[in-house]
Amino acid sequence: MMAADGGSTLMIEKEFPKTEKKKTKYDVIIIGAGPAGYTAGIYCSRARHDTLILSGILPGGQLVNTTEVENYPGFENGVMGPDLMIVMRKQTERMGTTIIDDEVIDVDFRHKPFKILTASEEYECRAVIIATGASPRKIGIVGEQTFGGRGVSYCATCDGPFFRNQELVVVGGGDSAIEEATFLTKFASKVHIVHRKDQLRASKVMQERAFSNQKIQFHWNSEVSDITGDQKVQNVILNDTKTGQKTTLPVGGIFVAIGHEPNTKIFANRVELDAQGYLVLKDHTKTSVEGVFGAGDVHDHRYRQAITAAGYGCMAAIDVDKYLTEHKA
Ligand code: NAP
Repeated sequence: MMAADGGSTLMIEKEFPKTEKKKTKYDVIIIGAGPAGYTAGIYCSRARHDTLILSGILPGGQLVNTTEVENYPGFENGVMGPDLMIVMRKQTERMGTTIIDDEVIDVDFRHKPFKILTASEEYECRAVIIATGASPRKIGIVGEQTFGGRGVSYCATCDGPFFRNQELVVVGGGDSAIEEATFLTKFASKVHIVHRKDQLRASKVMQERAFSNQKIQFHWNSEVSDITGDQKVQNVILNDTKTGQKTTLPVGGIFVAIGHEPNTKIFANRVELDAQGYLVLKDHTKTSVEGVFGAGDVHDHRYRQAITAAGYGCMAAIDVDKYLTEHKA
């Protein structure tokens, strides 16, 4: 086809491609793409709300770092964590939710519509669901960062099998630390539990299991002061907090299991957080700002399960639906 000036329209279109203006206004924006965020997306889209998930740079949440998940209902033979998250994402998209892998850097909840800012875009919406989850707490020493992925791990189920017949350190005294240490004895020749107190916080039954395990040795009143090695972890140096005595443990790896921290930095002074930084929810999923809701590990430090996070995602979406119906734009 020829254009009026004799040139080809095909050519012109090629040279000046039509730029579609990026859509930036939605009914609901969900921040975070773990089980809570995806479930919220499915329910919001099925309720016919124009829904965007801003998934951050590492979509999928903590399940992306796990191996087999055996306790998520619907999978008779279990499912790999990353596979479960891929299926959840596809299902969410099929329901009509837009998913953008961008990280939110700030939010403005002072006026409506709410504003959500990423590094490249500013979005507007009538309701928000915060589902940013939690991340493993770090010890905070230099060696921990230096040897990240080279012997320092935060997930025994993910990385345990890489340490067959090696000695390992597990840091912490809660249920996670004891569970991880017990699990690691399947692979390791010996597991050293390093705890800063002289007694465990973990439940009695788990303590008993660990105390009777011949492969586990406890180091009480001790903290990890350094991690050294060449290409990977070779030594973990302990400091006895009572005597100041240093002990070097030659080990192949160190698993840090000292709890989690909610991913709420960007929400400080925007919505109410508790002393630990967890989102405070009232009346199930409502935050301190009307129209802003929360779901999953970002508020729940008690259950912290994929299935409970998904359940909260569903609850938040149902609450958003009610809110949007009552507050027409
Ligand atoms: P947690 O109960 O908060 O325990 C964290 C442990 O790490 C505590 O022993 C704490 O020491 C220690 N710790 C914290 N910060 C530290 C630091 N900077 N340096 C050294 N040590 C540090 O966390 P969790 O074990 O992850 O458990 C979280 C929740 O999930 C709990 O409610 C737990 O019951 C639950 N959970 C249940 C299961 C299960 O039932 N199968 C499994 C895992 C988790 P202090 O004791 O001195 O404070």
